[in-house]
Amino acid sequence: MTPGETDRFTQIPVSRRRFLWMSALSAGAAAAGCATNPVTGKSQFTLVSQSDEIRLDRQNSPHQFSADYGPAQDTGLNRYLDETGRSLAALSHRPDMPYSFRAVNAVYINAYAFPGGSIAATRGILLSLEDEAELAALLGHELGHVNARHTAELMTRNMLTLAVVAGVAEYVRSENEKYTGLTTGLGLLGSGLLLAHYSRDNERQADALGLEYMTRADYDPDGFTGLMDMLQNLSKRKPNAIELMFSTHPMSEQRYRTAIETIRSRYAGKHTNRFLKERYMDHTVNLRKLQPAIENMQKADALMGEQNYREAETRLKSALSEAPGDYTALMMMAKCQYALDQHGEALRYTQAAREAYPEEAQSYQVEGVARLHLNQYEPALKNFREYEKRLPDNPNTLFLKGLALENLKRTGEAAREYSRYLESVSEGKQAEYATNRLVEWGYISAPQS
Ligand SMILES: [Zn+2]
Repeated sequence: MTPGETDRFTQIPVSRRRFLWMSALSAGAAAAGCATNPVTGKSQFTLVSQSDEIRLDRQNSPHQFSADYGPAQDTGLNRYLDETGRSLAALSHRPDMPYSFRAVNAVYINAYAFPGGSIAATRGILLSLEDEAELAALLGHELGHVNARHTAELMTRNMLTLAVVAGVAEYVRSENEKYTGLTTGLGLLGSGLLLAHYSRDNERQADALGLEYMTRADYDPDGFTGLMDMLQNLSKRKPNAIELMFSTHPMSEQRYRTAIETIRSRYAGKHTNRFLKERYMDHTVNLRKLQPAIENMQKADALMGEQNYREAETRLKSALSEAPGDYTALMMMAKCQYALDQHGEALRYTQAAREAYPEEAQSYQVEGVARLHLNQYEPALKNFREYEKRLPDNPNTLFLKGLALENLKRTGEAAREYSRYLESVSEGKQAEYATNRLVEWGYISAPQS
């Protein structure tokens, strides 16, 4: 493929940089060669080794978890998910991967897996499940993606974004132009930016594997039916909240029918009536108390997507009266206030969010940006450094530190941050700004265009 040609999988023009990156990957291909697919047992050409999968998982998954407002602080819920997930993973084709399972605080409806076995389900989807068999179906499906090495397959076919290959910086480099607005302004990575987008064949295989694992663990296969019905219904009732899930895990009438038909035929003799509804309800009791607040947050999310920040604010006020210390609601409100240009209010909410969840990184980043707008550069710089301590390798943080230092007239230090930023990101308004400063200060000469 030559630069400028259109990549036939993704239909996007191949930039020079992307081309160079792909050449590098091709050069490594000889070393990667063939590997046995753990599910099919067949030899398969792959550019991605198991240690690559684990490394890429470790680089990328923390950023996705933070974009989803961190693991839920409900330790009982997380332990329950982890135990349920691990018992299924032990029965899978790759029992030795370093699996981990958690609930994340986001309210939209989704579950996802990184290639090394880091798996998450949002509070939104956990609220929509009826019993443990449905949970096992969901986690089994995600395990299916890890076991069939779908991310490695997508990467090898060059369908996946660069992120999973080279880490967050590489992704931001390639996606910088597409994601503007609120998220970029706040230096955050957009929700779902780091997730693999599977093919319809991947989805059918993950469904088949999910069914296999959950029934090996003696759950009733009708738990899978329940999960599929729930997703179908939500696509009608809450299309906004489930949009990302269906863009990453494509749903279709055919996928639904295939799963139902498989349960009817292959699993006809496997009904155990083991659904464990009560156990699921016991472990999600605290989550279900938050249901009204989470529904208000889901509505606010949709409104913010439409840039209707005034109505989103009203919804978030209700959410916060129902769940006063909820980190997600506080952070969403901070972003909403930021979008309304009420930076003092944004600051107030990020501080409340930080008190609610000091280990989680996102509040520091948003607080720093609000402070930049309030001309509080020294504390802003401190915020960005705190963010970086918790979540390194987001190139936007380098840019934001540069801005704070520039305003503090610490030009030399600002120049260092800007040039580090430009090592990761070469396009977009921020890159242009950083380049201009470096030219102005005499560190580099004006780029030739
Ligand atoms: Zn899927």
